[in-house]
Amino acid sequence: MNVEKSQSSNFLRNIILEDLHTGKVKEIYTRFPPEPNGYLHIGHAKSICLNFSLAAEFNGKTNLRFDDTNPLKEDVEYVESIKEDVRWLGFEWDELLFASDYFDEMYERAILLIKKGKAYVCDLSAEEIRKTRGTLTEPGTESPYRNRSVEENLDLFERMKNGEFKDGERVLRAKIDMASPNINMRDPVLYRIAHATHHNTGDKWCIYPMYDYAHPLEDAIEGITHSICTLEFEDHRPLYDWVVEECEMEHVPRQYEFARLNITNTVMSKRRLKVLVDEKVVDGWDDPRMPTISGLRRRGYTPEAIREFCAAIGVARSESVVDHRMLEHFIREDLKLKVSRPMAVIRPLKVVITNYPEGQVEMLEGEKNKENPELGKRQIPFSREIYIEEEDFMEVPPPKYHRLYPGNEVRLMEAYFIKCHDVIKDEEGNIVEIHCTYDPETKSGTGFKGRKVKGTIHWVEASQAIPAEFRLYDTLLLDEEEQEDDEDITFLDHINPNSLEVCQGFVEPSLKDAKPQDKFQFVRQGYFNVDPKYTTKDKLVFNRIVSLKSSYVVKKE
Ligand code: ATP
Ligand code: MG
Repeated sequence: MNVEKSQSSNFLRNIILEDLHTGKVKEIYTRFPPEPNGYLHIGHAKSICLNFSLAAEFNGKTNLRFDDTNPLKEDVEYVESIKEDVRWLGFEWDELLFASDYFDEMYERAILLIKKGKAYVCDLSAEEIRKTRGTLTEPGTESPYRNRSVEENLDLFERMKNGEFKDGERVLRAKIDMASPNINMRDPVLYRIAHATHHNTGDKWCIYPMYDYAHPLEDAIEGITHSICTLEFEDHRPLYDWVVEECEMEHVPRQYEFARLNITNTVMSKRRLKVLVDEKVVDGWDDPRMPTISGLRRRGYTPEAIREFCAAIGVARSESVVDHRMLEHFIREDLKLKVSRPMAVIRPLKVVITNYPEGQVEMLEGEKNKENPELGKRQIPFSREIYIEEEDFMEVPPPKYHRLYPGNEVRLMEAYFIKCHDVIKDEEGNIVEIHCTYDPETKSGTGFKGRKVKGTIHWVEASQAIPAEFRLYDTLLLDEEEQEDDEDITFLDHINPNSLEVCQGFVEPSLKDAKPQDKFQFVRQGYFNVDPKYTTKDKLVFNRIVSLKSSYVVKKE
């Protein structure tokens, strides 16, 4: 397994060091606890890297535990995808566990709470409970069912379990303090009724524990030492501790909170990502525009790049939004020396080299990656007809345009100088092809010392060019920051309508054996990945992972 060093700014590591030093804990045990109600996203990757790397650094262990306490939203499809994604990121769990495996024990502990007078069955509706909860400035009001006898509570709770009541008719609530300044402590709901089939326990249960009750018990049962979660659970920590203590759990886990990852122009919640999938705004959870792990993988991101990114953003307790260009920086860095740099023409314009012999094809040789000669060489055919990029030619060039225009000479990368002498148009005046001459003296690599040219452009020889589709992506979200939904405008109104552009072009023949998930840098264009979903035997489809340059500078610590 690959373990990145977590950053020095990681306050959790200091807590662990202190706990080991004082002997408070002997072995570090963490867990990654996804709810299987969607696919994992890059925010989860931060939590995964954190939990697994911290434990590994101290020879500890990490469980993968599915927090499957809500059968209405969960699905085995999600369980499988989550396992795949965690492994793909490079981590191996100690144990694979399901919260639902502890339903019996959770039920027993609830009975213990009732017997201790610490929990009661409440007949108020969800709406009534919400209304009587009070506000930040006013205490709540006690439920009329709060002082039921232990016997009555035991009886009702058992009947809840046996399916005698309908969804929402009754709940089990903790009996804590309706006047607590912390609203989470005002008799929170522990169990609710839901007549639903569970992916793991089937129809055995029709009552299900709430997150705030289930999570601390899961951690305690597994012997988790450091239960790491995001900051919105900070106010739940007193309840977490209350549950562990009042349920008389032998092992006492501790909860620590860190700031969740937010990225500019990125939708980062499973709930919203699911809407994008269900509304067919994207073509599935693994659409390359999605910030899901499966989307990033299909886009062409590598586990290394994602882990480096997670290590670099560090772990803090203050909310912030990370620039999406920072993630892009790490994939460029990872692929820079690893992949070859062939030529591809995304928006082709045909060029006929009128003084090149008809029928002749010569083979030129180029390095696969000039910065990494170890990758070897590649053969590049050249002939009378080639394609260049549409934008590398202008009939009427603006000032400082050094590429091809009538009368101007440019260098064809790895080949010759060419000079444009004719522009061929159709009846409507659209440019169909351009005619050039080449200078045989200027062959690349011959040490030609004659005149200089200012522009160098890429190209692909026409007769052996492989047709390819290029899918170019932009951010899904128009705004930098995610907005809260309000009454008449949802996040869907902020989705970028131009996040995908599809172009039909060509790649050089050295890519004839390219397979799904192979990655390349197309010179002057960016990094591309062979799309695993749309590529067929007859058609190569490329996802642009990222363009070549960015104005983003990663701050060095
Ligand atoms: P979402 O809000 O996207 O649905 P979630 O928090 O409900 O996410 P869970 O499956 O409950 O998703 O999360 C599993 C773990 O991943 C939790 O410990 C959670 O704190 C963590 N996590 C989720 N989103 C982020 C994020 N954006 N940054 C860091 N950690 C996250
Ligand atoms: Mg959740």
